[in-house]
Parts: sequence; structure tokens; C-alpha cells
Amino acid sequence: MSKIIATSAIKGAHTIVGKAEAKLKEAIDAKGPNETVEFPNTGYYLPVIYGITGIKIEKLSDMEQIIKMAKDLLPEVPSEHLWLPYLGNTLDAGIATLFAEEIIEALNYVIGPSPVYDIWLGAADDVIMRERGIEFVDGSAPGFAAVVGAAPDNETAVKLARQMQEKSLYVFLAGQSPEGKTMAEQLAEEGVQLGWDTRLVPFSKDIYGHIYSLGFATRAAMAFGGVTPGDYKRILLYNKNRIFAFVMAIDEVDEEKYATAAGAISYGFPAIAHTSIPQILPTGVCTYEHVVSNVSFDEIVQKSIEVRGLKIVITEIPIPVAYGPAFEGERIRKEDTYLEFGGQKTVAFEWLTMKEIKEVEDGKIEVIGKNIDDVEEHSRLPLGVVVSVAGRKMQEDFESILERQLHHFINGAEGVWHMGQRDIIWVRISKAAKEKGFKLEHFGEIIHAKILADYGSIVDKVQVTIYTDEAKVKELEEKARAAYRVRDDRVAGMTDESIDIYYSCTLCQSFAPNHVCVITPQRLGLCGAYNWLDGKAAYEINPTGANQPIVKGETLDSVKGQWKGINEFLYAKSNQNIGKMNAYSILEDPMTSCGCFECIVAILPLANGVMVVDREFADMTPCGMKFSTLAGTVGGGAQVSGFIGVGKQYLVSEKFISAEGGLKRLVWMPKALKEQIRSYLQKRAEAIGEPDFIDKIADETVATTEEEVLAFMEKAGHPALAMEPMI
Ligand code: SF4
Ligand code: ZN
Repeated sequence: MSKIIATSAIKGAHTIVGKAEAKLKEAIDAKGPNETVEFPNTGYYLPVIYGITGIKIEKLSDMEQIIKMAKDLLPEVPSEHLWLPYLGNTLDAGIATLFAEEIIEALNYVIGPSPVYDIWLGAADDVIMRERGIEFVDGSAPGFAAVVGAAPDNETAVKLARQMQEKSLYVFLAGQSPEGKTMAEQLAEEGVQLGWDTRLVPFSKDIYGHIYSLGFATRAAMAFGGVTPGDYKRILLYNKNRIFAFVMAIDEVDEEKYATAAGAISYGFPAIAHTSIPQILPTGVCTYEHVVSNVSFDEIVQKSIEVRGLKIVITEIPIPVAYGPAFEGERIRKEDTYLEFGGQKTVAFEWLTMKEIKEVEDGKIEVIGKNIDDVEEHSRLPLGVVVSVAGRKMQEDFESILERQLHHFINGAEGVWHMGQRDIIWVRISKAAKEKGFKLEHFGEIIHAKILADYGSIVDKVQVTIYTDEAKVKELEEKARAAYRVRDDRVAGMTDESIDIYYSCTLCQSFAPNHVCVITPQRLGLCGAYNWLDGKAAYEINPTGANQPIVKGETLDSVKGQWKGINEFLYAKSNQNIGKMNAYSILEDPMTSCGCFECIVAILPLANGVMVVDREFADMTPCGMKFSTLAGTVGGGAQVSGFIGVGKQYLVSEKFISAEGGLKRLVWMPKALKEQIRSYLQKRAEAIGEPDFIDKIADETVATTEEEVLAFMEKAGHPALAMEPMI
């Protein structure tokens, strides 16, 4: 990072901490150490200090320990020649700044000047925070902009405000230009209505007033994210992942503004500046870049949205229940379910294909078979969701990307729950949703609206047919499976060694925040829905999306599959939780698992090998756990030695746990899975010089315990018995 920013931010931090200390002394001298100090109507004390340290500030003397903390955090001002290669120091200075600013603002409530006067609103109380904060969480507000300073003229100020309002952003205003102007005043002069209702919120004339922006964000993490006060890591992470905010600096950035921006960067909020300040481009703390400068006023709103990775499209979906990302995490219990599909109980699949423009009738939605009103409560139906899309920029490569989104799209409806993809989906509609009038055609409405909203750049027309007629569903499922196979085969000829770039997938971070799928040509995403070509296509469709190219870099271990570039990427994207990963090992630093794995591979130490169980197999397995119990152990985004979640296709990859000897280690698998991938397995068996290998793999018909597996292996002459011990 640039030494200029570090120096400025650290100098600014020293100034602000100094002011806070002086002001606290002044306040104690005037009112005594026991004087009450608080922001109006909040249960979160001074929220930034409370959230980050867990300390409740109730009287003036409580602030002394915070001043001390801030001073301890303050790094020395670096000499002009010092090169700071990382952000650490500056971030500490940023947090010290925030503590000091919060103290100064709180003291303004005690000894003045009052933060509330003229157009200035001061701190938001908890009622506002709850009412508005939920909008950030449910997606009805895409995020907030913390605007610093004033525009060069009123016209520009109005233009910026309108642009952000159109995008439904909240605009938090604080900080003045060197001439003493603020954007809020510029807007007021032009008769623009300010306040929470118009989303243009004038906090304070002073840059310190942005502590209210961060206080708002901190309280959101505690109120909606359930983060415990004092758990500063999760406070910051929640904000980075859930509160899409950024700093927009529209005039000269002085030392105090730098220091405040450094505080915001700790929250994962990047700074986008109009003036030419040094940029901090490498990503790490923020989702993308930290500081981007020299952005013209014509571009600054759009650029901010891009840098912060905001999803702005807000679509009206014509369904009778609420819709938004907040409902994605909603569970529907069996008792509350009216109608259910799939989940191994009925045939169910979803399949998206590309057609010629003239073959697709946009917006046409049909239900073939029974609808929700035709069945009793607690019923099950087969389900086939067939989506046809067309568009001039559509490519076949994009089909699986769009198809995988159906999960998120459908899950966004209140009272509807969706899991899995392809032919392993499981869907529930709640009684409450049925009461509100939810019908099967509404799946089509959601899919139609969301594909056009999110992928309008490539898709022009969407048609959806929902099948619940069993014979028809079965017939179409065969076709869908053939299509899945074609997709999987396209990547079959490629090897990991022949490619320098792999792809990440972080789609599942919404519920497994540290999980990253690393997708290589020979190891697809563990949900089975994304192979390397899909990763590439997804990146082409959306360069700032969940699939990013990762340059492998130096090979650290070619046998275990470890690369420097991959490790570095993982570290950054796993919230500093995963420092290294071996792509081909189950024992040593294996890949993490979110929860959507098609199969789980687990070590069977006695048998000197591994077993694999797929989601469809519900019975007990030789490792002593059923799939569901295993899934609880393996999922959630941690590295669990001896267990990995994988896509089915990876089982027949040359790189399948090749660090531990590969396919020859496979000693048990469910019979149905064996049959399902038999032709691929046979090919691999021949390649490893074991043409009869399939018959040597035990299944539930011959073994349900590890001892029985071992007995079977001895009888069958399984090659794992002759291999070196796994552990
Ligand atoms: Fe992406 Fe992996 Fe989740 Fe599949 S399981 S959607 S590849 S993160
Ligand atoms: Zn997942």
C-alpha cells in the first residue's frame, strides 16, 4: 500500500485521538466523571465501541479506558521513507479513529455543541435502525453510500443524489470541503428533501459524523446478524459480507478524512474518490479494491457500485408472497409444509436449456399436471421445472450457470424452500404460502422475472413449464440427465496441469461464510453443478460475481495439488481462515465443504481406504454415520481431515484423492451410485490396471459395517489391502 495514505491516515488518527482525549478532559472537568453519556434511545450504548470491544459506555469515566485503547492501537507515524507493504497499521489507526470519533460525538451530546440543529440529524435511534436496517438485510435497500465532503457545485450534488436514490441506496452525508461546504447543504439549497424517508440522511457537518454511519452498520450486525458485542471479527465480517456500503469522497481528502476512511476499510467498505489520491487496488479486507481514485462525477456512482460488488436490480415479482434474499435462509418444517417435491421421495429435477429466439415465448408459464389446489395438505408431487431461454448473447456454456441460480431464485420467496440442483432437488411450499395464494405457476413467475433482471445482458426471453404429471416428469428427467452428461463431458479432455487458471466459487458463502470451492478441470465444484468451463462462463457473464479466476502460481506440491496462488486466494476469500489446501488429498488440508456436496468421501481406517456415500443413500454407512449425520460433520466451511464433500464427477477423475493413491482406495459405495456412474468407473478401472475393480468395491448388499467391508475386500482381493497404510 502507499506510504502516503498510511502516513496521512496515521497522522489524522493521532489528531483525532488527541482531540477526543482533550474533549473528554473538558467534559469531566465540567460535569464530573459520573455524568451519564449516551446516544438517544438506543440499547447499544456507543455502538461502535460496544460492538468492537463489548464495553458499555454509560458515564464519562467509562471513556477513559477507550482512549487508552485507542492510543495503544495508534501506530507511530511512519517516516517519509518507510514502505508499508500491508494495511495492518493503517487499519489499527482506522479503528482508533472510530473510537475517538464516537467519543467526540457522544461528548457533543453532553457538553455541546449539540449534533442536532438546522438540517443535521445526529445519531439514529434504534427504531430507525431496526426499520431501515432490515432493508439492508432483506435486500430492499442494496446498501449505503457514506458521502464525504461537497460536490464542486449544487447541480452535481443533486445529480449524484438522484442517481443514488434511483438505485435505492441510502446516502449518509457528513464531512465538509476545505471551503466549509457540505453536500447536504448543497442539496438543501436546491430544495431537495432530506431525511430518512428520502434516504438522503444528513448526519453532521463534521467528518466525525460518519461514526453514525458505522454505528448504524455495527448495530445491524448485532441486531440482524446476531453477533455478540465484542466479537469484533464477526462484526467486521458481517458488514463486509452483508452491509453493502462504501465511502464516496467527492472533494479533497485531508488527513482526518483518510483516517476515517481507514476505519471504514476495516469494515470492508472501500473508498471511491473523485480526486487523485493514491489507489489501493489489491483486494483483501474489502471484497474488491480498497481505494479507487480519480473517478469522474459521471462515473462515480456506477464505479462505487462495481467496486463494492453491489447488486442493484430490484425486481417486482408478481407473486402473492414476499420476496427477497432475507427469505433464502428460511427453513420450512415438515409440519408447516403443505406440498413437497423431490427429496428422494418423488422424482424431481430442473433443467434449463437455450433455444432459438423464435422458439421461446417470453413470459409463457404453464403447469402440466396437478396444481397446489388439487392436492391435500402434506402431499407430495413429482416436479419437473423446464426453463427455455433465448437471447442473442446466450451461449450453451451459460446454461448450467443459469440453471444453478434457480435454487437462489426460488428460495427467495417467503414460504418456499428449495435445496439441491439438477435431478436432486427438494422443494417445500408452506401452508402459509398456500393460504396467501401461492400456486405452481409462481415458480415460473419468479424464474422469468429473476433471470431477466439478473441476466438481462445475455437473456431476452424466458419460458417456463412446470410438470407434476409423473409419467411426463420421468420422461423429461431422462432428457435432462442426458443434457447434464453432455455438459459434464465437455471438460473431460482437460487436465489440471495444462491450465494455469482455476476458478473459485463462493456462491455458498451466504450460509458457509468461509467456504470456497476451487474448481479445476479435474475437480468440479462439490455440488456437481459447476465444472471448470462453467466457472469460466460465469466469470464471462459477470466479472465481479462469485466465480473468479485464480492464477495457480508456483506449484508447491504437485502430488497433493497445492499451489501458491490458490493458497493466497483462499486465505483472502475464507476470511483468513484457510491458509492452504491440497486439492487431491483427503487427509492433509483438504478442501472445505459448504453443505451442497453430491457425495461425501470418508476414511475407513480399518479397511485402509475410503467410502463414498451420495445424498440419495439414506441408510447407515460403514463409517457408522448416515449421510445426514456425516453432512453435519463435514459441512459449514471447515477443513476436516479424513472427510471431503465432492461432486460425483470427481470420483472418476484421475485426480480423485490421488495424493493417497486414488481410486484404488475406494472400498465401499452405495449400489445405486455404482450403477449410476458404472460406465465412467469401468473406464477408470481399466486405466488403473484393475479391470474388475467395480466388483471389488463393497456396497450395502454385502457390507454395512467396516468389519464387513474388510471381510469382503479380503474375499474379493481389493487392491487397497496391499497399499501403504493410509494413516
Ligand atoms: Fe459454488 Fe461450490 Fe456452492 Fe457449488 S457448492 S455453488 S461450486 S460454492
Ligand atoms: Zn454449497
